[in-house]
Amino acid sequence: MPDDGAQHGRRMARKKAAVDAAIARAERDKGLLLVLTGNGKGKSSSAFGMLARTLGYGFKAGVAQFIKNRRDTGEEAFFASHPSVQWHVLGDGFTWDTQNREADIASARRGWEVARAMLQDATLHLVVLDELTYLLNYDYLDAQQVCADLAARPPMQHVVVTGRAAPECLLAMADTVSELRDVKHAFRDGVRAQPGIDL
Ligand code: ATP
Ligand code: MG
Repeated sequence: MPDDGAQHGRRMARKKAAVDAAIARAERDKGLLLVLTGNGKGKSSSAFGMLARTLGYGFKAGVAQFIKNRRDTGEEAFFASHPSVQWHVLGDGFTWDTQNREADIASARRGWEVARAMLQDATLHLVVLDELTYLLNYDYLDAQQVCADLAARPPMQHVVVTGRAAPECLLAMADTVSELRDVKHAFRDGVRAQPGIDL
């Protein structure tokens, strides 16, 4: 039977009541651990969206980019010189080409020390750990140690972890997990990475 206006109004009123009740129940504040994973586009760019929001409130933030093969991205050009952002590119030691596992492990551990210092700094409202999952998946970092350091951070500090195939212990301790699903990507249609969109 076709929907009439009155029916629609009643359905919307029920929906609004349910949403209002859910909003009323969510009354706690907490430093969140967010994990953005999956094969679709949108993980790092979502993290940088939260960074922009954070800075909009005048809060301080820290970013660690663990795998970085270029330094000419829009996010770095925009955020790295911001007075309220600590921007660390920690992937310099990694290349997919060296295939030197020992050197990569040493570099990962040095990088994690920088990240850990941010996780101990309660003045940072948000810490972005971009592409961290790869270091865990390759066992360059001990996932249990990383999760322990995340758990020990200041209670109101938010952390966003990005990267494909997030390990189970990270998913288990996260407050919010989104899996970006790859439905289509222009790259497969022969379109190169577009400034402002992909980098
Ligand atoms: P973005 O930084 O655009 O949010 P991402 O962090 O989700 O992407 P990464 O795996 O870190 O994805 O890849 C970074 C780069 O690879 C970006 O230029 C992105 O557009 C591109 N990319 C992401 N997903 C895909 C995909 N499924 N196929 C091809 N290229 C992709
Ligand atoms: Mg990314």
